[in-house]
Amino acid sequence: KIKDLIDKLYQEHDLRDEDLLYILDNIDEESIDYLFYMAAKTRDRHHGRKVYLRGLIEFTNYCKRECSYCGINAYNTKAKRYRLTKEEILATCLHGKELGFNTFVLQGGEDMYYDDEKMADIIRSIKDLAPDSAITISIGERSKDSYRLLREAGADRYLLRHETANEETYKKLHSKSYFKDRHQCLKDLKDLGFQVGSGFMVGLPDYTNSDYVKDLRFLKELEPAMVGMGPFIAHEDTPMRGNSSGTIEKTTTLLAIIRLLMPRVLLPATTALASIGESGRKRGLDAGANVIMPNLTPMVHRGDYSLYKNKKSTGSESAEALNLIKEELESYGYECDMARGDSKVIYR
Ligand code: SAM
Repeated sequence: KIKDLIDKLYQEHDLRDEDLLYILDNIDEESIDYLFYMAAKTRDRHHGRKVYLRGLIEFTNYCKRECSYCGINAYNTKAKRYRLTKEEILATCLHGKELGFNTFVLQGGEDMYYDDEKMADIIRSIKDLAPDSAITISIGERSKDSYRLLREAGADRYLLRHETANEETYKKLHSKSYFKDRHQCLKDLKDLGFQVGSGFMVGLPDYTNSDYVKDLRFLKELEPAMVGMGPFIAHEDTPMRGNSSGTIEKTTTLLAIIRLLMPRVLLPATTALASIGESGRKRGLDAGANVIMPNLTPMVHRGDYSLYKNKKSTGSESAEALNLIKEELESYGYECDMARGDSKVIYR
């Protein structure tokens, strides 16, 4: 039955919730290989063997939010906080441009030091410096008017994971925030013409396969241009210390299902996946991923953007190691692509 369901998912790009649950509950060694095979075939058909590279700039780790899993949440007094100046951000983009990057992902905590005007000014200045490059912003929840200003300034894409589509779990993890607000932000971003990325963490405590089905359904209905999905990894200075991490197996199974549900979506093999095991990145790509986001953040601050334990930011996660990354991808049978790599998802 499971192979028939995978075939149906491959052909129709959707399944009933109970069938998605059946796959998650019953996947075994033989059917998982078939799932990965079909997911990779789907990725190859829509995107080829190219892997897009995005330069990640973690420009602030100040954050006003309470996310109980995150090492840079507002209450972690042990976090060593930093902010990059506009000049430092531009110098980092210039360095990235010289390395060949054509997408810059500006990610940070929810840091209101960077008000709308400052953010818009930074975005405009990056566009002056690298007019043909794409800018992705990932700075959390803001008003639709704020998002509009960022869009008008030239931002192309926005990453905002929904984190979990189980509203009760969402409330447990974010005691002061609401899932419906995050969802509204995603709708606003789409409405404003951003290429929107959403996604969730794998392996949160007490998470069940029915919860993952909710996440998959949420994404299928949202129709994002990108899905960022990686394992939860506990940070020792957060309330969630001591919890076990999401596994490579579960993460790659879900990546493969996402590829089959949304063939055109841009799907990173995330840093978190690479951080939980040597083979994490390769296995993510083999499950249908087609993006990686090497770290461009100035070296002195890399260790301080500590979202979780043992986060990788050097070696093949580092933008400076471009040759290493290219060699690694080629050795797995993929081709490194530094183009903008815009989404092929067309919003209805
Ligand atoms: N502040 C922005 C936001 O809320 O979207 C972007 C920065 S936030 C640190 C980026 C992502 O890191 C979150 O969406 C979350 O999924 C992930 N993250 C945070 N803590 C994590 C952890 N302990 N394990 C895995 N991923 C984590």
